[in-house]
Amino acid sequence: MSGFDSVLVVDWSAASSRAPARPSKDAIWLGFVEAGAPQSPIYCRSRIEAEVAIAGIMEAERAAGRRLLAGFDFPFGYPAGVARRVTGGEDPLDLWDWLAARITDSETGANNRFDVAETLNALWDGPGPFWGKTHADRWPGIPYRKEGVRYDTIAEKRACDLASKAASSCFQLCYHPTVGSQALMGLPMLSRLRRQPGTAVWPFQDWQEADVVLAEIWPGLIEPAVRAALAADPAQIRDAVQVDLLSRALAHLPDARLSAMMSDLPPEVQDEAREEAWILGAGHADLLSDLAHRSAPPPPPAAPGPIAPPPAPPPLRDDCFAMPQGTEWTPVDTALAALRQGLHPIARTAPCPLGAAAGRILASLVTARRASPPHANSAVDGYGFAHGSLPPGDPVMPLAPGRAAAGAPYDGAVPAGQSIRILTGAILPDGVDTVVLEEDTRQSAGQIAFRTGIKPGANARKAGEDTPEGAEVLGPGRVLTPADLALLASVGIGEVPVYQRLRVAILSTGDELIEAGGDAGRGQIFDANRPMLLAQITSWGMEAIDMGRIPDDRAALRAALDEAAGRADVIFTSGGASAGDEDHVSALLGEAGALREWRIALKPGRPLALGLWQKAPIFGLPGNPVAALVCTLIFARPALALLAGAGWSVPQGFDVPAAFSKSKKPGRREYLRARIREGRAEVFPSEGSGRVSSLSWAEGLVELPDGAAQIAPGDPVRYIPFGNFAL
Ligand code: AMP
Ligand code: MG
Repeated sequence: MSGFDSVLVVDWSAASSRAPARPSKDAIWLGFVEAGAPQSPIYCRSRIEAEVAIAGIMEAERAAGRRLLAGFDFPFGYPAGVARRVTGGEDPLDLWDWLAARITDSETGANNRFDVAETLNALWDGPGPFWGKTHADRWPGIPYRKEGVRYDTIAEKRACDLASKAASSCFQLCYHPTVGSQALMGLPMLSRLRRQPGTAVWPFQDWQEADVVLAEIWPGLIEPAVRAALAADPAQIRDAVQVDLLSRALAHLPDARLSAMMSDLPPEVQDEAREEAWILGAGHADLLSDLAHRSAPPPPPAAPGPIAPPPAPPPLRDDCFAMPQGTEWTPVDTALAALRQGLHPIARTAPCPLGAAAGRILASLVTARRASPPHANSAVDGYGFAHGSLPPGDPVMPLAPGRAAAGAPYDGAVPAGQSIRILTGAILPDGVDTVVLEEDTRQSAGQIAFRTGIKPGANARKAGEDTPEGAEVLGPGRVLTPADLALLASVGIGEVPVYQRLRVAILSTGDELIEAGGDAGRGQIFDANRPMLLAQITSWGMEAIDMGRIPDDRAALRAALDEAAGRADVIFTSGGASAGDEDHVSALLGEAGALREWRIALKPGRPLALGLWQKAPIFGLPGNPVAALVCTLIFARPALALLAGAGWSVPQGFDVPAAFSKSKKPGRREYLRARIREGRAEVFPSEGSGRVSSLSWAEGLVELPDGAAQIAPGDPVRYIPFGNFAL
């Protein structure tokens, strides 16, 4: 019999950090159909939290007398021969226990999986079988890349991976798509869960009579149904949809079909499956996908009320990076004009409370809800009266009882010929249009006296004199300053429509790179571009996504770009952008038909590789840090500002006398690393483009024109402070 009452599907994660409080992708999600009733997917912020939830569900289902099928989306076994090499025996469950005794995990996600993989690798000669890691310079026993790893004594993939066309091997620990790390971090949990009473592991154990059956599953089998559900409601989180639909499909599967799937593995793989495990449903993807599709929940009704959600911005056109034609080296201004023409805002919009809006980009025109000031009021502390009722000569006026203060208006009317005590900010009472400053009066026994000559309306502010009601206050594209928040607040705006922060993924490429702080070997250098570019993007109010360092390997780079395109709106790479042997960024873009190599007449600079990777614009910057920063400031900044919604802008420079001399050849524009001292622009003594220290020394750039230039000390040159390269 199969006959399960409830189905649990677990989407596992090997993340080394705790998932955010707000349900997010790439965390752990549980799909649960309890006694035939689909539940909302459960979000877990850490593996430890998930294990508690899963153990709880297993116990509760057993206590309720229900049979539970619990599926997990990572390999339950390794290719034949691995278990024997590690534990000395054939039983794959001993390998689970072996891992459980060694793997450590924590609520923060910190874990030792690479150390354990290194121990495992030591059991085989030569590099591997486990490969791929997050830090090129750690865990020397794990190759960073697959090259050189041979799978001759053991297979790279299991029989069920081949049967289900799974993309990844359980030996691959990093780079999307990967399951290797998930298995190392998941099998120890299974080793504990399987010890719950009445629990069996399919297909290793006799599962027919067990109350709880643990089985390997793979959401890739129902990908068409997942895609359709996401297309119907794109706001959903993919991982949540996957577990929801797969649990529904398995729950809908007729008993006889499920029983056959579990009992009748293809004869030619039965031996392997006893050690390698099997993916439940492998070979039946169409059936499962169809069931998932039919049991999917209906898409939510459109949001009620008159406010429609803001429309998604149109995608960029494939030719948005079309290269200006006609010249071998394109002048800077021509290149900028082409960028400006091809791009448009791609960020979505959302409302933002005023208090959080500094630095955000306004998405539409804002008008004043109320005039500022809303009423005529006094600009000073003093005495108010009607100018038309002043007696001739130096006035002496009786003081009406009471006073007008800010927040405490005077309700009565002040009779003609009388005055009233009034404080700064108080609404002018009826009968008052002019205020005399307290210091200009003498007061005695219920009256005031002052010199003649005060002008009508003196010391009074008119209603709406700052901003009339309905006036256009700020327009779209405005990067909101602290002062803007004061202005918006003054006219009653508590929430503004803003563009969502542009997400920019940043990755460095190069076999020579290691993380700063690591132990550098000969030939290695520290990755200087990534911290610089991440900080630059953050300083522009965008969300910088650190994608790490990628070796000069096309497969790894492709995987990283795929992941980056999924997580970000824009991709920045540095290095490998020219046309050399190891220039994989341009080569990959070229292969994908997406490369536009921009040869811009600019120094310092190298060819830039621009293109769209899965609809995400990618800026392939030069590897040289000086060129990377200059290209970022001169080209990427205005383009990013446009994509983010802030519009195109030209950084403002000004002319200052040079403190240097230089003879410049015609043909390309030059930017010198510069700073101002004693009113003159001085430039870094070396123009070497490898001089990282010059970037830090400089406080701005001197821009020299495209043509020839002879500069002597005292000649005016254009200086642009780094601060002016803001959005
Ligand atoms: P590439 O553009 O990859 O040919 O690299 C040009 C130069 O920049 C080489 O000397 C690289 O070693 C160096 N380089 C590339 N990427 C980085 C980086 N992230 N940090 C520092 N130097 C780099
Ligand atoms: Mg390189």
